[in-house]
Amino acid sequence: MSIHEECGVFGVFSQSPADVAHTAYYGLYALQHRGQESCGIVVNDDGVFASHKDLGLVGEVFSADVLARFPKGTMAVGHTRYGTTGAANRSNCQPIEVNHQKGRMALAHNGNLSNAAVLRSGLELSGAIFHTSSDTETIAYIVTRERLKTVSIEDALSSAMNTLDGAYSIILMSPQKLICARDPYGFRPLCYGKTEDGTYVIASESCALAAVGAEFVRDLEPGEILVFSREGVLSRKEHCNKKKMRLCIFEYIYFARPDSVMEGVSVHEARIRAGRALARVHPVSADIVIGTPDSGLDAALGYSRESGIPYGIGLIKNKYIGRTFIAPDHRMDQVRIKLSALKNVVDGKKVVLIDDSIVRGTTSERIVRLLRDAGAEEVHMRVSAPPFLFPCYYGTDIDSKENLVACTHTVEEISEMIGADSLGYLPVEDLKELAPGLTYCSACFDGKYPTAVPEDSGKDRFERRLSERV
Ligand code: SF4
Repeated sequence: MSIHEECGVFGVFSQSPADVAHTAYYGLYALQHRGQESCGIVVNDDGVFASHKDLGLVGEVFSADVLARFPKGTMAVGHTRYGTTGAANRSNCQPIEVNHQKGRMALAHNGNLSNAAVLRSGLELSGAIFHTSSDTETIAYIVTRERLKTVSIEDALSSAMNTLDGAYSIILMSPQKLICARDPYGFRPLCYGKTEDGTYVIASESCALAAVGAEFVRDLEPGEILVFSREGVLSRKEHCNKKKMRLCIFEYIYFARPDSVMEGVSVHEARIRAGRALARVHPVSADIVIGTPDSGLDAALGYSRESGIPYGIGLIKNKYIGRTFIAPDHRMDQVRIKLSALKNVVDGKKVVLIDDSIVRGTTSERIVRLLRDAGAEEVHMRVSAPPFLFPCYYGTDIDSKENLVACTHTVEEISEMIGADSLGYLPVEDLKELAPGLTYCSACFDGKYPTAVPEDSGKDRFERRLSERV
């Protein structure tokens, strides 16, 4: 599996000065799975911002020394990034900080705007100069421009939301307020909670609230703006209920942590239901069901419970390798470095292998080979998602049809290509089993995009070499 989520966002609002940098650090640690390229924290110390951002994991970027240098403050905003728009360089680290005519702000964003290229081009034609290639800067620019015409930063954000299209969960910090907003479709999750001492925390996923000892309060509604200030918490809903909720269904299948709950649905339970549905539509006679760590494990449990075939641990993951691990020696099989098969579990067995997706098929082929090398007699692969057939414009890197094996091969061909005895995907119509009652985005599986999609996103034009330009 090599699909990446774009980002995790985290915010802290305390009524009195506190060590908010540490709170943000623990929150970001819990959101590390959403982005492993870079991270950053900005602390608001009585209107003065102190920040630290860099490439690397949270534990690498924020040493004890770096954290100790942060002042106490009443607010902080933090970010973990996997860039789907903009290259992995320091200038694209978030939160973005902006000084403008009416003050300053720091902004962290998760998602992709589907009209980012059009918005950016319009700004550039009116003289705007950009320092980064990420569309977060486009949002910052539009909010800043609106701020010149409005009486408050939340009014500016509300105006900006009239022009932003696509996926965005935003946390924005001004000298006096912490403001968060979720796009009107609610593509990306965003929730908030409260600690015992009255500190508010906002996070992409509820697992990060639990990590800092906060009680979950609720998810933001799609289109909602929440303002945290000395006056309390104010909810603005002028953008709510204008669109039908379209939470990314792949959050449940792969991106989110299993201990998170989104829109009242446990990710762990959703994956178990996906596994159960798979067992019903693609039954097979086998001795054991195993999952690919980590996100295939819960679905494997579901498949086992529904089918009655015993569940086992057949693959062990090297815990010390992150999702973005790249071997310095490319001759080495990266799958063998990340995963190993338990011979005594699979030897001589007919194995059902559950994974969360197949992108190009190369990883699946290597995992199947691992199991056969360990003695598996048969390997029946079951995938807890439908085949990827369309690009995503809302914050993941499923962006090119030629890289999606299901666009060019039948299920039988893919099964043969990966060396499996049989292959079965979760049907698109069974996605509803994951989160009953929820309306969701499944565009990468069925092509039904909730918004207009860009003809050419122009995503990487700033990273193209002159010789690569057309
Ligand atoms: Fe999620 Fe796929 Fe929709 Fe993108 S297109 S938001 S990955 S369901």
